[in-house]
Amino acid sequence: MPTLVMKFGGTSVATLDRIRRAAKRVGREVANGYDVIVIVSAMSGKTNELVGWVEETSPLFDAREYDAVVSSGEQVTAGLMALTLQEMDVPARSWAGWQVPLKTNSAHASARIEEIPTDNINAKFAEGMKVAVVAGFQGISPEGRITTLGRGGSDTTAVAFAASFGADRCDIYTDVDGVYTTDPRITSKARKLDKIAFEEMLELASLGAKVLQTRSVELAMRYKVRLRVLSSFEDNDDNAGTLVCSEEDIMESNVVAGVAFSRDEAKMTLLSVADRPGIAAAIFGPLADASVNVDMIVQNISEDGRTDMTFSLPVNQIARAEKAMDEAKASGEINFAELVTDADVAKISVVGIGMRSHAGVASQMFKALRDEGINIKVITTSEIKISVLIDRKYMELAVQALHDTFGLEKAA
Ligand code: ASP
Ligand code: MG
Repeated sequence: MPTLVMKFGGTSVATLDRIRRAAKRVGREVANGYDVIVIVSAMSGKTNELVGWVEETSPLFDAREYDAVVSSGEQVTAGLMALTLQEMDVPARSWAGWQVPLKTNSAHASARIEEIPTDNINAKFAEGMKVAVVAGFQGISPEGRITTLGRGGSDTTAVAFAASFGADRCDIYTDVDGVYTTDPRITSKARKLDKIAFEEMLELASLGAKVLQTRSVELAMRYKVRLRVLSSFEDNDDNAGTLVCSEEDIMESNVVAGVAFSRDEAKMTLLSVADRPGIAAAIFGPLADASVNVDMIVQNISEDGRTDMTFSLPVNQIARAEKAMDEAKASGEINFAELVTDADVAKISVVGIGMRSHAGVASQMFKALRDEGINIKVITTSEIKISVLIDRKYMELAVQALHDTFGLEKAA
């Protein structure tokens, strides 16, 4: 039998009624001839509540017990989904991560998947079970403890199952009907994409288009899992969502696929650091040790052996970064005249695999921003992406202008 993976996010299993609606979809795929592996998230809000309880009980919690607590939300929905399917006469049972077993490393709260043996579940399919309902987000460590995969990890569970079982497709049911050219709340011209390439989705996912956990897209790209993002709230026939797939499966697309943004960015500049071999390592080593997620980096041209180094980081990591830099200065590892922080910037990026073969995207982007009078503070580029930092107050305006400039409201 061909296998299908269907993943239901928190809002799609938020109530018993929604679980029934989801179960009906699963029943339809069983009727279509599939053996189905259903991956469920916790009911929406549940994981936040569990995390809150852990933090209130023990601020410096033992991550193994954190995982024991926060993994419980998925176990509830897995059991309820299996019961609902049974009530519909669909042969189904639930599986906790350890029962599969979904094997991970020991990095509690952000564990990585090492292996998903297929024999236990396949043996049940062979006996006539039609649906394996698996609790997402959780696994078991080599020490035999429950682990979790990091927030949003059920997406990664789903893709990993699809890869292991060679599923025809991995359908991610969520509360939006697909991946958009940009956030529809920022411009009503945002358009749902029928298809998007893995590389593009990866850039959009890591840039804060929160539809899919970034790791799940990486995994899908590596194992060529056809991923579909679609709404569990729509039942009409054209609810085909967005297919995330290999470039070769996309015939023609716009040069720019989408405009992504990240609102809560900050920019730091170390003024007048010595320009000598090892200076970047001396700055970014301590930042990495302090778990600061540095994104863009610009080193100025130097004058009299001294230069300025600018980098961007999430706004909520400013304190950590400043502390790391002050300590590095105090210990003599680096020497700078001043540390200047700008906490009011946003990052805007245009993304598209078409950029590889089209020149002029950068200049078109810069002209559009110029025409709105928006100053660019930092620029970085990659093969399929151009990102700029601008003042946060212009973020919406910039996204709208770029969406217009690249004609994203219309398909290619
Ligand atoms: N329930 C977990 C979370 O909220 C995992 C998931 O839903 O993907 O992070
Ligand atoms: Mg999610």
